[in-house]
Amino acid sequence: MRHLSLKWKFSAFIAILLLGTVGILSALVLGGVSSYQREQLEQDMARRVQSATTRITQQYVTGTRVDAATFMQLQGQSLAMELGAASGLRVVLFDAEGRKAGDSLPLVEDTGEADLLGYALQNRIAYATEGDTLDYYAPLTGTDGQLGVIRYQASISDQRAFYRQIVLLLTFVGIGVAIISIALGLIYMNRQAAAIAKLKAATDRIRRGDYSADAGLRRRDELGELSHGIDAMRRAIHVSLEALGAEKSNMAAALARLQQLEQQQKQFIGNVSHELKTPLTTIKAYADLLGMYEDDPDLMQDARTTIAKEADRLHDLLEMVLKLAALEKYEFNHQPERVDLQALLRDVAERMKGRTDKLGIALHADLQPAIVWADRESLMHIFVNLLDNAIKYNRPNGSITIGCRIAGNSAEVECRDTGIGIPTKLRERIFEPFYTVNKDRARQSGGSGLGLALVKQLVEKQQGTIVVCEAPEGGSCFVIALPLFREPSCT
Ligand code: ADP
Repeated sequence: MRHLSLKWKFSAFIAILLLGTVGILSALVLGGVSSYQREQLEQDMARRVQSATTRITQQYVTGTRVDAATFMQLQGQSLAMELGAASGLRVVLFDAEGRKAGDSLPLVEDTGEADLLGYALQNRIAYATEGDTLDYYAPLTGTDGQLGVIRYQASISDQRAFYRQIVLLLTFVGIGVAIISIALGLIYMNRQAAAIAKLKAATDRIRRGDYSADAGLRRRDELGELSHGIDAMRRAIHVSLEALGAEKSNMAAALARLQQLEQQQKQFIGNVSHELKTPLTTIKAYADLLGMYEDDPDLMQDARTTIAKEADRLHDLLEMVLKLAALEKYEFNHQPERVDLQALLRDVAERMKGRTDKLGIALHADLQPAIVWADRESLMHIFVNLLDNAIKYNRPNGSITIGCRIAGNSAEVECRDTGIGIPTKLRERIFEPFYTVNKDRARQSGGSGLGLALVKQLVEKQQGTIVVCEAPEGGSCFVIALPLFREPSCT
């Protein structure tokens, strides 16, 4: 069921209030009018009775001396006619016993009130109105006491008409007030209702989750304050929800990252155990064979070489795993210093010279001077690893070029080879731990797939970057950018 709207309620309230006021005022006015009329009537009748009493007493004392009752019976009719003619009203006289003594209109039917007469006979005034007629009974008091009773019958139609007119007038006033108050109430409340509707629309928008618009009520009253309050609330909810949303997506991202890390960790542990198993199986196999053929010198020789090789492999592997784990989890021993990159790269190339010469690989160096701010040991590890890979994955009689130049705020080291190269789509994956493009080739060359993962971590620790780029003459090309050392400025 639809409720009565606020504007109708308000208008009805104002109308009822004003009608109540008009009603009370009308009752007071009508009461006043009616009591005024009664007073006037009583005064008028008292005056008439007074003059009638004077006339009758005068007749009684100046005429033949008879008792009051006889006087009334003898003179009553003529006195009634005289007083009736003088007043223009019907006058009826009674003696002190209540017997009718005279009537100014003897032929008109008389409907007198015995009760009122009884009162008047006890020397009291009594009157009653019936329709537009007033019946007024008053004692006639002479010098010797009560002579009788005089009764006036008068028309009060004028007074009644006046009273009815006032009632009509007040009724019109009441209806007018009701209509005007409802109309004014509606006009006034329409404006208020429009403002309230605006506020309601604003709260509806908030409920639907639309925080884009203000309530937009520019007023300096309570509704204006309410509008400000709603706007402030809308902004606060919006900010909280945005913060909550951001928090939620942060949490989701953190959770996803955590799950990814967990997955990576599991994979890492699986790979480590797998890589550890292979050399251990070989060592165990040789141990078993030696147990069976103790005196076989060839086997002994073979076992010594292989066990030493696998032990080295185990050692390298463990070292790499531990270093990687330390880099990821703990603050590792990182001591940046001013490093002459040109000299460092020359040193690394020198160390590799023996191996490249042995394999017939030409090693070229094109090194410009550059000073960087980095951990020297880490740099050594990075470039030894890169050159090691360039040798491992090269072709017979291939070449390696190591270059260094300055680009902006960085020193760029490029390591290019003429080897087997890396397929473009795998260029990102080779930095994942244990990832190898070709397992057999990696195994043959003693690789475990951890080298580049470690190199990338170490480069990032130096605030640098490493990328694989296109090698024009085939093969692979790695570019490492490291921040240049900046002399502290003297102030
Ligand atoms: P590995 O110990 O197997 O060499 P790395 O992490 O150093 O492990 O390298 C990961 C993989 O990237 C290698 O197995 C190899 O397939 C590929 N790779 C690395 N360097 C080169 C290169 N210079 N030329 C061709 N392939 C390379």
